[in-house]
Amino acid sequence: MKKNIINAPDLNKTRKRNLAQEVRIIYDELVVPDIVQKKAPGLKFLILTYGCQANVRDQEVMEGMLLQAGYTKTNNIKNAALIILNTCAVRENAEQKVLGKLGSLKSLKENNKDLIIAVSGCMIGEPVIVDTLLNKYHQVDLMFGTNEIKNLLNYLAKVYQNKEVVVAANDDNNDIVELLPSTRLSSFKAYVNIMYGCDKFCTYCIVPYTRGQQRSRSSVDILKECQDLKARGYQEITLLGQNVNAYGKDLKQDISFGALLKSVAATSIPRVRFLTSHPWDFSDEILEAFLEYPNLMPYLHLPIQAGSDRILTLMGRRYHKNDYLNLITKIRLKLPHIAISTDIIVGFPNETDQDFMETIDVVKKVRFDSAFTFIYSPRDGTPAARMPDDVPYKTKSQRFISLVNELEQIIEVKSQQYLGKTVKVLVDGVSKNDPEMLNGYTEDNKLTHFKGPKTLIGSIAKVRINSAHIHYLLGELDAA
Ligand code: SF4
Repeated sequence: MKKNIINAPDLNKTRKRNLAQEVRIIYDELVVPDIVQKKAPGLKFLILTYGCQANVRDQEVMEGMLLQAGYTKTNNIKNAALIILNTCAVRENAEQKVLGKLGSLKSLKENNKDLIIAVSGCMIGEPVIVDTLLNKYHQVDLMFGTNEIKNLLNYLAKVYQNKEVVVAANDDNNDIVELLPSTRLSSFKAYVNIMYGCDKFCTYCIVPYTRGQQRSRSSVDILKECQDLKARGYQEITLLGQNVNAYGKDLKQDISFGALLKSVAATSIPRVRFLTSHPWDFSDEILEAFLEYPNLMPYLHLPIQAGSDRILTLMGRRYHKNDYLNLITKIRLKLPHIAISTDIIVGFPNETDQDFMETIDVVKKVRFDSAFTFIYSPRDGTPAARMPDDVPYKTKSQRFISLVNELEQIIEVKSQQYLGKTVKVLVDGVSKNDPEMLNGYTEDNKLTHFKGPKTLIGSIAKVRINSAHIHYLLGELDAA
């Protein structure tokens, strides 16, 4: 099969990128190439998304473009004429899942030569992955990176027209393209991108290579999107960015994340959330926003990653343990009821028992309300992947187990504070394990299950908690 490499992933070029490069914001209407206009009607597409909320929002944009081009959506992979795997590259196992799925699609392709299989998302920012797909996964017709979504229809046209494998990893322009059509996977909760990419280059992280330079959207476009969602009756929006606290630092227009947060909250959408924060850029203005706007939900995701200053330095996190602890103290002084969650990596190269005990010490001191915990997974091309790693895997998994135990003991105790309380839950849907039960999240982001009519889905219900567990609460509707 002919290959058309429009742009290949290049980690060195990405690392040396000019951070001062001006970001253009483009307001172009979507143009559907002729051959796609001819082919699409009657064809069905299916997008499988892996990984984070940013990927979910990317799926919604891809769906909007494909529907406007004339395709229809299907949930049955056998009926699809176009399958897109929208991938995550944050850890090894995420990639293995995708490669496994691609393997299972081979027979579908053999039985239907017109089937188009595409791979998008962060895995396409990695040279080693693109080489593997080109050389071993011949069922793949198209590979496009996170900031190439805007060109999806043009690349489909090339695949249809020239019967070639198209590779477009990352468009160097780093433009922000507004006005692209998009769907919403929920009719009451929505993700709103406020920025793309990241320039922090934490040594273990592949995101700056796969999602490109930090680019903030204009606050006018963000507010317009939020007001539109408010007008459509949305109950909750989550502002998205790899490091939302750095919002606006790349914009000529003088606006900070704190100011943006206040203006979004001022739209009076019932619930406003944001993620992900970086301790290094956390400002007092953000705390003020929480104090001024009760519709800013009392939940903060603030990754620490490790407790040891030596490891934090090797990670390139730009803060030390005490900086983080002092920040938590400051936040809790102003917002005593805020729930705080975090990300922690164990088994980073050269992590000693003493380093690990520093992480446990932070967990004991901060008493997180929830946490995402990971065993370090080397990402090809990142500086950390070149560090000699003398920590045996057995030790890494032992540390992982004791970290989770420490966290869960604290969370179990803290969860008892909900007993007998009435909490407000935005009802997401029916519980997976019991069709009689509904579920949703409290304002401080605690998963809650309770019995109730399906008519409550999409609305905020009052629930009285009668049992509390590490990962969820159980309650009953509070009619009062
Ligand atoms: S701030 Fe987050 S997304 Fe950016 S490099 Fe660090 S870990 Fe990755």
